[in-house]
Amino acid sequence: MLFDLRPKDNKANLFDREAELSKVINYVGKLNIPITIVLGLRRVGKSSLILVAIKELNMPTIYIDLRKFEERQYLSYRDFILELQHNINELTRRFPKLVDFLKGISGVSISGFRVSFSWKSNNRVSFAQLLDALNDWASDGVIVVLDEAQELIKARGFNILPTLAYAYDNLRRIRFIVSGSEMGLLYRFLRIKDPESPLFGRAMDTIELTPFTRGQAIEFLRRGFEELNIEFKDYDEVYGKLGGVPGWLTYLGLKYYEYRDLSRAIDETIDYATALIRREFGNFLIDKQSAKDRYLAIMRMVANGCVGWSEVKRGLEALTGIEVSDSRISEYLRQLLDSSWVIKVNDKYCPAEPLISAAFKA
Ligand code: ADP
Ligand code: MG
Repeated sequence: MLFDLRPKDNKANLFDREAELSKVINYVGKLNIPITIVLGLRRVGKSSLILVAIKELNMPTIYIDLRKFEERQYLSYRDFILELQHNINELTRRFPKLVDFLKGISGVSISGFRVSFSWKSNNRVSFAQLLDALNDWASDGVIVVLDEAQELIKARGFNILPTLAYAYDNLRRIRFIVSGSEMGLLYRFLRIKDPESPLFGRAMDTIELTPFTRGQAIEFLRRGFEELNIEFKDYDEVYGKLGGVPGWLTYLGLKYYEYRDLSRAIDETIDYATALIRREFGNFLIDKQSAKDRYLAIMRMVANGCVGWSEVKRGLEALTGIEVSDSRISEYLRQLLDSSWVIKVNDKYCPAEPLISAAFKA
């Protein structure tokens, strides 16, 4: 069903995205590209695209979902290793032979087909050695997905960049798919252009998912309602109020199916979306508490229409009643851009999507 709130995991339920899907399949499958990046706003369909591609590729996969650490201030090696352990146990259940390849690694204990990893500093299992083992085991390749990888910027006491670089250079059979909703942050984490970074100069192919266009949004809704045998014609109203982010359109479709009342379905979608957006903005502010009111003030200005740099400065100074330095203003805006709360259009700062604007208006 198209109006299912979970990420789609098979091609029949993925609307459009054909070009993007064949790119992922081609990069990861045929071209053997070591790291493929999938970028796009939250709820634009990154996880869906990746899951469908994996199914089409039919290769063993480790899927590390970092979104669950979104509300955390930091991420420990224990968190990361337990995620990995869970994933690798799913593989050993399907492919018992893999256990033989994991046996000799320090920090790995085995009982039957179950593996446990230690994160204790004197005996911590190394991510690089695990990848080595996967590389030796998988004759046709293994996919390692780091979904919402910008969360790894919060890692404390470990750094996976050197391991990514090692795998990039040496492990032919390991292919990474790295996704991120907070685009600037993801690039800041990967530091591909920083000569000091382990990943410096490594080429990576990027696939960017954008919200549906008006035409795609209408066709998506039309197909979804058709599946449910529902007559519907107010497409323009929906697109006008919600924009083209697939996640919101999916929610609207489901609510309309439930109530058969468009204004109620739209209102509930807006309530749901704005509540989520505000909570996610709260996560963004976790490590910015001292400037919390300033970030909120900027979002309120942006919500009412695009604003220029000097307007932001004037607005913030009016709010605080003191001078706010130029570098501070630029830093606030950079953080908002990096985390995809705002986008820059012709030198103005605008909400990244209509519902972000709705979330900060009232
Ligand atoms: P992201 O990982 O970018 O946050 P998801 O893949 O979780 O996005 O998608 C968000 C929601 O939108 C889910 O309910 C998903 O089913 C739906 N969705 C996104 N893209 C599509 C698509 N191309 N076809 C059908 N449903 C989609
Ligand atoms: Mg996702």
